[in-house]
Amino acid sequence: MEAPLQVTVLGATGSIGLSTLDVVARHPDRYRVFALTGHSRLEELRALCLIHRPRYAVVAEPEAAGLLQEQLAGAGVETRVLAGEGGLCEVAAHPDADVVMAAIVGAAGLRPTLSAVQAGKRVLLANKEALVMSGALFMQALRDSSATLLPIDSEHNAIFQCLPADYARGLASVGVRRILLTASGGPFRQTPTEQLHQVTPEQACAHPNWSMGRKISVDSASMMNKGLELIEACWLFDAHPDQVEVVIHPQSVIHSMVDYQDGSVLAQLGNPDMRTPIAHALAWPARIDSGVSPLDLLHIGQLQFQAPDDERFPCLRLARQAALAGGVAPALLNAANEVAVDAFLDRHIRFTEIATIIADVLGADPGGPAASLEDVLAADARARALARTWLSRHGR
Ligand code: NDP
Ligand code: MG
Repeated sequence: MEAPLQVTVLGATGSIGLSTLDVVARHPDRYRVFALTGHSRLEELRALCLIHRPRYAVVAEPEAAGLLQEQLAGAGVETRVLAGEGGLCEVAAHPDADVVMAAIVGAAGLRPTLSAVQAGKRVLLANKEALVMSGALFMQALRDSSATLLPIDSEHNAIFQCLPADYARGLASVGVRRILLTASGGPFRQTPTEQLHQVTPEQACAHPNWSMGRKISVDSASMMNKGLELIEACWLFDAHPDQVEVVIHPQSVIHSMVDYQDGSVLAQLGNPDMRTPIAHALAWPARIDSGVSPLDLLHIGQLQFQAPDDERFPCLRLARQAALAGGVAPALLNAANEVAVDAFLDRHIRFTEIATIIADVLGADPGGPAASLEDVLAADARARALARTWLSRHGR
C-alpha cells in the first residue's frame, strides 16, 4: 500500500476548497491534507485546521498567523501558520506536497499556482484567472517542469476527458475539428435586456445550477466566465479562439464536447457538482467516489441548446477580442473585470457597467507582448488603475 498523497489546498475556505476537502476526506487511505490557506474567513480556516490537522496553514497577515497558531496550539493541533504570498508559494512548492489544488480566486492566485507548477507538482487548476493572465508563460513553465496540470473547471475537465491521451500533439493531429464549450447562460439568460441595468448582486449570485463563490457567480451572470474559459481552453488545449464555440445549454448536464473530423462528438455528462472534476483530477487516471449522486437522465428528460446572444452578453465578445489580440490583452481584460465585479458587488456600479469598464480599459491601454511575468503584472496594474480612474470619473 502506497503512502497517502499530501495535498495542499490553496483557497481552502472557498467553494472549490471545501468541495476538495469533502472528496479528500472520503479517501483517507489515498490523501492527507498537507496545507490549507485562507484569506478573510479566518474562523472557517481555524475550523478546517481542527478537522484536517494540516502540517501548514497560510493566512494574509502575520498578526492573524500568530493568533491562529496560538489558537491551534491551545487545541493541541501542531499546524505551522505562515503569512502572505511567500507563505502561499512555500506550501505550493514544498518538497513534501504531492498535489496542489489551485483554488484561490483571481490574480492573487497567480504566483502560488506558478510556484506549484515550477516545483513539479500535480496541479489541479481551478484558478482560471492565473492561466488567462499569463497563458504563454504558464504553459512554458509547465513544459519546463515535471508538473502535471489537470483542469478543474468543469468544461475543461470535460474536454480533457473527451480528448485522446496524446492531444498535446496538436488538435488537428488527433482529428479534432472544434471544441464545444457549454454555458448555462446564468441567471439572466431570459431577463429582458432592458432590465439588465437594474439587477442586483443577490440576483447575479443566484446561479440556477451551480453553487459557487461570489466573483465567479457574477462572471457567470455576465458570461465573462465563459469568456475567461474560452481563453483558458485555448491555452490548455493549444486551440485557436475560432476553434472554440460557445453553446448555451441551460441544464448544465453536458459539461462540454469535442467535435471530431469524422463527425463524432464526444461529451462528458454529470450532475452539476464540482466534486466530479475534483475527484477526476485527484485520482486521474484512476476513478474514485466523489460523493456525487448518479445522473438521472430520465428525470432530466430534455437537453437544450442555443446560440449565445452577443448583445445581451458583451463580455463574451470582449473576451474573444482579447483572446485574438493576445499578448497582455487577456491580463488587461481579467484585471479590469476583477475591479468592475468588486465595484458591482459593493453596489458602486450597475451590472451593465461591468462590460463598459472593461471595454474602456481595453480601448485605453496599448497592450503589448506578455514576454515575462513583469509584463503581465505591469499590465494587470495598469488595467486596475484605468478601471479605478473610470470609477472616480463617474463618481463611484
Ligand atoms: P470563493 O470565493 O468561494 O473562494 C476563493 C478562495 O480564495 C477563498 O479561500 C479565499 O479566502 C481565497 N482568497 C480570496 N482572495 C485571496 C487573496 N487575495 N489571497 C489569497 N487567497 C485569497 O471562490 P470559488 O471557490 O468559487 O472559486 C475559486 C476559483 O475556482 C476561481 O478562480 C473560480 O473561477 C474557479 N472555479 C470555481 C468554480 C466553482 O464552482 N466554485 C467552478 C470553476 C472554477 P477567504 O474565503 O478566506 O477570503
Ligand atoms: Mg466552468
